[in-house]
Amino acid sequence: MSIELRNISKSFGQFQALRGVNLTVPDGQLVALLGPSGSGKTTLLRVIAGLESADGADKPEILFHRQDVAGADVRSRGVGFVFQHYALFRHMNVFENIAFGLRVRPRAARPAEAQIRERVRELLRLVQLEGLEGRFPSQLSGGQRQRVALARALAVEPKILLLDEPFGALDARVRQDLRRWLRRLHDEIHVTSVFVTHDQEEALEVADRVVVMNKGRIEQEGTPDDVFHNPASEFVMNFLGNVNLFHGRVEEGKAVLGSLVVDSPDGKKAPGANAKLFVRPYDLDIRLEDTGGLLGARIVRIQSAGSVVKLELLADGEKPLHVELTHTRFRELKIAPGRRIFVVPRDARVFVEDYTI
Ligand code: ATP
Repeated sequence: MSIELRNISKSFGQFQALRGVNLTVPDGQLVALLGPSGSGKTTLLRVIAGLESADGADKPEILFHRQDVAGADVRSRGVGFVFQHYALFRHMNVFENIAFGLRVRPRAARPAEAQIRERVRELLRLVQLEGLEGRFPSQLSGGQRQRVALARALAVEPKILLLDEPFGALDARVRQDLRRWLRRLHDEIHVTSVFVTHDQEEALEVADRVVVMNKGRIEQEGTPDDVFHNPASEFVMNFLGNVNLFHGRVEEGKAVLGSLVVDSPDGKKAPGANAKLFVRPYDLDIRLEDTGGLLGARIVRIQSAGSVVKLELLADGEKPLHVELTHTRFRELKIAPGRRIFVVPRDARVFVEDYTI
């Protein structure tokens, strides 16, 4: 079931938490709302669920499968919810927690006991908790509790699944396992899902589409590849990973940053403008000799325990820089802390005042 949101604003007193959000979530996709704390992610999720209503003055529209649900209450929207804090019933075992939504249905809509048992067994298999159905929540790990919460949300066959930082309370390793598991689960059930996270790695790894939010607005929306490789703004560039920032000016259609000169095809539109050059740590290459057009720097620290080698440099002018090299390139270079080297961007993103180049 697709979701379409038009003109969604939300104020709490004087404070505007959402400012004119427009978003389409295609049927069957897993979409991440990504942004810093306070950017409006949870508020948007709550508006989709019907737990919060959008400001009426802007004529907001919320369509599920092209049907207007703006006036519909939470129950009739058919959404399943999973929150950061498990919110399982402590006095019920896993089986009963999952069965709950089916058991509380009005008699006419309630499945027979045998069907409930069948459905719960199917869900236990889906969330890989077979054999644990007799346990109580206190006898489960955090990751297991979240899988129960997900099974409970899925029991009533929601048309849309909403997840608010579902793995936020778990440690890093469990989070990583669970997000891969969520991706595989989604590939199996294909229910249109929106999940909130402030963790860019999580969003990029799990989602079909990523919606980057900032101050109540959507900064950019696209596939993980789109938002990562073609960030539409400085905010997105910064938010989606480490970057090195250089300041310079546009001269003759190029961004000139000290000794570095970077082509910027649209720079002619803004001669003399301030330019900011953003370079990801793995896009800075290291040269041992100054062949011109390079930036001099000194190696301060090398950290080689990991999948890449991380270098901390101080560029001329005492500007700290971060570089990531493959282990192969690092071995070729034979470099050590204290050595003077030169850097050059292989790839860069230039933002010229309000222009993106
Ligand atoms: P986080 O990652 O910290 O949960 P978020 O992006 O989900 O952040 P929201 O929870 O949507 O952000 O909140 C957006 C802004 O709206 C925040 O500044 C928050 O303080 C404010 N806000 C949210 N709910 C209310 C409320 N009921 N009353 C007043 N202000 C609220």
